[in-house]
Amino acid sequence: MSRVMLITGASRGIGAATARLAAAEGYALCLNFHHRADAAQQLLEELKSTGTQAIAVAADVADETQVARLFATIDEQFGRLDVLVNNAGMLERQMRLDEMDAARLMRVFAVNVTGSFLCAREAVKRMSTRYGGKGGSIVNVSSIAAKLGAPNEYIDYAAAKGAIDSMTLGLAKEVAAEGIRVNAVRPGVIRTEIHASGGEPGRVERVKASVPMGRGGEAEEVAEAILWLAGEKASYTSGALLDVSGGR
Ligand code: NAD
Repeated sequence: MSRVMLITGASRGIGAATARLAAAEGYALCLNFHHRADAAQQLLEELKSTGTQAIAVAADVADETQVARLFATIDEQFGRLDVLVNNAGMLERQMRLDEMDAARLMRVFAVNVTGSFLCAREAVKRMSTRYGGKGGSIVNVSSIAAKLGAPNEYIDYAAAKGAIDSMTLGLAKEVAAEGIRVNAVRPGVIRTEIHASGGEPGRVERVKASVPMGRGGEAEEVAEAILWLAGEKASYTSGALLDVSGGR
């Protein structure tokens, strides 16, 4: 049977690009979605039409019960899990820290940090040789914001992605001897819909002058890095934070 990959937040953007590339590489796929069931269904049909074994499962990754159900569905449908891509993430409108309320911080941490934590925990229970698994790999989608800090925009989001980086480093060491590699990609400014929720759909154009390569990135360029870290070509790479940011 094909290797099985779970991608969270897979209905659009970097998640959908990763799903298309993974399908082309022969993975069977579980596409998690929370919003946009229509887009998830459309992607599912597109992948199945080219012969990929795939399912789409609704779940809010920040909700422990829903995450448990998501993984139970993978157990039933595939009976194995080889790769987790913790891609689901969100940010809120750009503002200074002194204008933010704590509820916003909690929402941003819930999806980005709690979501990645809960899915990684369930994945480890299925992949680890300690639990009778055959190993696997986890790729967390962090952000270059973890390094730059995102001043005047979203320090909360940058801090959440920083937490994901720390979790990547710690978990990589914790499960290395159990056959699991854990890495992260840190995308720079990538052309996806996430910028609209930050209140600036045209952000890529504004920011591109600060990118050494002089342009925003495409979701497919991040997907390539995710697929490399996920697969056997990266067999000796764990605990890496890979910037995919045009040199930023
Ligand atoms: P996007 O908004 O298109 O994709 C985010 C996906 O996460 C969406 O499908 C959304 O429905 C899903 N999601 C949000 N909350 C969820 C939840 N509670 N449960 C399950 N799914 C949920 O944007 P994107 O740019 O493709 O973002 C993908 C990842 O890349 C995110 O983690 C984001 O933080 C990160 N990232 C993006 C950029 C960029 O410039 N686009 C830069 C750095 C990091």
